[in-house]
Amino acid sequence: MVKSAVLGYPRIGVGRSMKKIIESYWAGNASAEQLQETAKSVRKERWETIKNAGVDIIPSGEFTLYDQLLDHSYNFGVIPERYASQQLNGLDTYFAMGRGRQDKAKGVDVVACEMGKYFDSNYHVVKVPHAPNTEFKLNQNQQLAEYEEAKALGIITRPVIFGPITYLSLVAKSREAPADFEPLSLLDKLLPVYKELLSQLKGAGVEHVQIDEPILVLDKAEAWGSEYKKVYEALAPVAPKITITSSYGRVGKSIEYLKSLPIYALHLDLDREPKQLDEVLAALKSTDINIELGLVSGRNIWKTDLKAAKALAEKAVSELSSERVNVSTSSSLLHTPISVKVEKKLTSEQLSWLSFAEEKCEEVAALAQALNGKESSLFEQNTKDIAARREFERSSDSAVRDRVASISEEMLSRKSPFATRREAQKKHLNLPKFPTTTIGSFPQTKEIRQARAKFTKGEITKEEYEKAMEAEIQNAVDFQTKVGLDLFVHGEPERNDMVQYFGEQLNGFIFTQLGWVQSYGSRYVRPPIVVSDVSRPSPMTVRWSAYAQSLTDKPMKGMLTGPVTILNWSFPRADVSKEVQSKQLALALRDEVVDLANAGIKAIQVDEPAIREGLPLRKADWDNYLTWAVDSFRLSTSGVGDDTQVHSHFCYSDFGDIFPSIQRLDADVISIEASKADLKLLDVFKSYGYSNEIGPGVYDIHSPRVPGEQEIKDRLEAMAKVLPADNLIVNPDCGLKTRGWKETEESLSNLVAAARWARSSL
Ligand code: GLN
Ligand code: ZN
Repeated sequence: MVKSAVLGYPRIGVGRSMKKIIESYWAGNASAEQLQETAKSVRKERWETIKNAGVDIIPSGEFTLYDQLLDHSYNFGVIPERYASQQLNGLDTYFAMGRGRQDKAKGVDVVACEMGKYFDSNYHVVKVPHAPNTEFKLNQNQQLAEYEEAKALGIITRPVIFGPITYLSLVAKSREAPADFEPLSLLDKLLPVYKELLSQLKGAGVEHVQIDEPILVLDKAEAWGSEYKKVYEALAPVAPKITITSSYGRVGKSIEYLKSLPIYALHLDLDREPKQLDEVLAALKSTDINIELGLVSGRNIWKTDLKAAKALAEKAVSELSSERVNVSTSSSLLHTPISVKVEKKLTSEQLSWLSFAEEKCEEVAALAQALNGKESSLFEQNTKDIAARREFERSSDSAVRDRVASISEEMLSRKSPFATRREAQKKHLNLPKFPTTTIGSFPQTKEIRQARAKFTKGEITKEEYEKAMEAEIQNAVDFQTKVGLDLFVHGEPERNDMVQYFGEQLNGFIFTQLGWVQSYGSRYVRPPIVVSDVSRPSPMTVRWSAYAQSLTDKPMKGMLTGPVTILNWSFPRADVSKEVQSKQLALALRDEVVDLANAGIKAIQVDEPAIREGLPLRKADWDNYLTWAVDSFRLSTSGVGDDTQVHSHFCYSDFGDIFPSIQRLDADVISIEASKADLKLLDVFKSYGYSNEIGPGVYDIHSPRVPGEQEIKDRLEAMAKVLPADNLIVNPDCGLKTRGWKETEESLSNLVAAARWARSSL
């Protein structure tokens, strides 16, 4: 009998109940008891939903109030001194680690642990710092507690835990630790805690445990055969039956050692990497390791093609027998919204394409049933829906397809090399040395958001809304005039979000009402969904930029979100490649860039903060990605003449390893985040002989703190020691939308004063 399994489930709760109670606990409006009570009822709700969907193997222990990796550190007693010394109760210590804690009256001010992106998803884990002297002890056995809690409800679960190697690979290393320290060196100290935890589970009668080892899909894990052997040979004798999961990629050469581990089953991500199945089946055939096929995507929101999934699973069944095969989700469902059933504004056709967490549970169950010889009505309906979707896909926008097919080399390049363009732009823009500018957005005030809410609800007319936005733009222009900036922006008041704003104006996107997906802690985003070929029915930003330009003689910088970033922060289609989708977006943006230039906008910034995070997990896949990603940027920006200055902006700047690609973007000006790092990253630019203009952010916009004038002068001086002064632009780290006007005025005044000083002194 093939069984169905789900690896994990969203934590938000129906009606966002978890998010609400957690935030009201933080605000002091709910008690810890109320919080725990809601958490308990949400866990029940999750287990019952999964069970009622017909799933055989139900997860527990992966629920969290903030983040699952943070839970592990806390449960293992890794609580750095700066939190432990606050004399807080357990829950508040835990939250302080996740989000910091400030209580001016009590003189408490501790920053949060750093966060990091979880594999290539938009979820962020909390990375508690570890050092050589870190000690582990089992503070609490969350897996056991949740197992018992579910059991009391009559539901038998499979507890979930990160494997020790993945855990140590994801946590941070303490600043005080020696430079060559690796948390993985703590493995021997950590193992006893895992043994204790797992033997408690076994003692309580737990039959199966799911050990998540997503680190297995990275190149570096291929060298960890002896570590994996050591860990699982130590754990297997004391633990329930172990299923190791390998979400987000392929296990690659690691299968060589995985096949000899003493485990019950190995899970594969067949959504991302269906091709790995044959090799893994061949490797497992002569062992007694079973296989769990991750066929239902935990990462996208599309209905699974159950017939195709079944065919793949049948291959495994015929190689190994149905006793040795289970089917499951490719990863936890935490990356998907909770349920399609609550969406009221999508058409029935659109709804028939989608599958969120609850529906994915039903799909895994239907798949297992079908493999056991019983095709349910859901399976039949799925076959029809998939056929209809395929039909829809065929009715694609042939004009868009043809245009993508006829992209030429010439369309990917500016007319002249940078040196020539630069001369043309100099005349045209007339900017001083050390020109000052900002990254685009100005404070998104309550008034702006209220005006937008009223417009969405139909309480004010389109004209009234646009008038309000024009007034904001006028205000931004006056502000920049007063402060004395050189290259202006319109301030982006009309944008709800830098991706959604464009998605709403392009053909090919749909939007959910309640499709919230966890980004970190209690922060959730609602990514747009690409459903069909993308095109631009009419100009998107020209009207606002042209209006802003009409108010001033200073050059106005147009502001767009780049193709790679729009795609990365949306749910992409599954039927065409990301490359094709990115190129479609690039063509739409290319037209926008040309229209902006024709409307007299002389500088245009195309933001690509997500270009680095879209990098594939395995190095072998980098070249292909970087080629199309950089080509997409070039395609979107190369339609204009030499005298248009093309800018780009990246929030993060750890691109040492992909530097040639940053260079190949061939933007006239780039702005990067640089205030927090020391200026070492500029050495990379220097060592590559980077010759285009660059604005390393001179202050951090993530905090309300106002940088002093001297501080910015020092920064500029240090920058001018590494890079030619003529190539330097003066700007903050990122957009100012989350800041208030007062601190923005003080900060930018200091920035302008420092730049003026630099002009005569550096
Ligand atoms: N232009 C955008 C802004 O200023 C850029 C935001 C970003 O890089 N995340 O808000
Ligand atoms: Zn940014």
